[in-house]
Amino acid sequence: MMRDYFADLGAASRDPARKVAWCTSVGPAEILRALGFAVYFPENHGALLGATRMSSETIPVANAHGYSPEICSYLTSDVGACLKGVTPLTKAYGLEEAPRPDVLVYCTNQCKDVMHWFGWYARRWSVPLLGIHPPTHVAEVRPEHVADVVAQYRHLIVQLEAISGRKLDPAELERAVARSREATDLWEEVLNTGTARPSPLSFFDGAIYMGPIVVLRGTEIAVDYYRALLAEMQDRVAAATAAVPGERKRIYWEGMPVWGRLRHLSEVFQRNRAAVVASTYCNSWIFSDFDPRQPLPSMARAYTRIFINRDDACKEAYLLRLAGQFGIDGIVYHAARTCPNNTNSHYGMPERLRAQGLPGVVIDGDLNDLRCFSDEQSTTVIEAFVETL
Ligand code: SF4
Repeated sequence: MMRDYFADLGAASRDPARKVAWCTSVGPAEILRALGFAVYFPENHGALLGATRMSSETIPVANAHGYSPEICSYLTSDVGACLKGVTPLTKAYGLEEAPRPDVLVYCTNQCKDVMHWFGWYARRWSVPLLGIHPPTHVAEVRPEHVADVVAQYRHLIVQLEAISGRKLDPAELERAVARSREATDLWEEVLNTGTARPSPLSFFDGAIYMGPIVVLRGTEIAVDYYRALLAEMQDRVAAATAAVPGERKRIYWEGMPVWGRLRHLSEVFQRNRAAVVASTYCNSWIFSDFDPRQPLPSMARAYTRIFINRDDACKEAYLLRLAGQFGIDGIVYHAARTCPNNTNSHYGMPERLRAQGLPGVVIDGDLNDLRCFSDEQSTTVIEAFVETL
């Protein structure tokens, strides 16, 4: 499925009749699909660079070109890969390079690094750079926030119509939003099978299963995939098939994955018979607000309401709710060095949640920069934590 997706992107970038849009992972993909763009997500490429550990060779290249080791290591991995002329897509799917964009579309609902990241490509390839800037870190999404983002979408659509050479068909947008809603509802059901004891899947499985909800939402393929995956997970629940045999403790993972150490970390938890049954990261692609009857307002609401874009009180209420729902014994907070946006342990949250009966521990690391992660330290911290639980 992913091969087909990337093959199509490669074909689109070679076909003068088709247009390629780059989009941030929680950007307005449905608008792009409805306008007929082939949609590529550089953060997915960043994760592939991390998971293949190619990032260890590409991050220093970006650093040498003035992009700090302290900023998003998806950005530095990806920019470094472009400068170096390498991509994991070659070995995995036969693409010589990432598909060249006709337009770059970001949304700062997650961070402002994406604006700098896409800005680098806009300058390099003289490609239009379009951005949505929603209100950030909100307690609640209020009607005026939705109106603001909808107005930005309308302006974006006018600019995209000029690039794509076609008018947005409202029915196409409704269909894209409907398909995204269906896929995201199924993805939520898949993740919720983790409430079973033993859990049929772990965060480390979810980090792989989430691919389609990131890169293929708005398509029928994603709907089919999550329908099949849900059936498989339900079979596993019925058969009491455990992701972690002998599961004795249930953990919540808060923060980014450490892409280059997924196997190592999954084995540490497995050895300690601790199942990581839920995570903020996988849940970040549940968009229950999508409503095809009101495509733009519902997209504005869904994409502004995401966890990363909320204040700490909202995040804490959310974590407590999920801890109850999944029977969580404790939280592991990943303090990702280069992503303060997806790191929630810096402002006292673990202490506040501990005071409310939810123990937690912090491990230092990073999504892609393995210079910031120690196998030994993280293993010691996790093992000691599970033991105290
Ligand atoms: S949220 Fe973090 S990992 Fe994602 S693009 Fe922004 S800085 Fe990078």
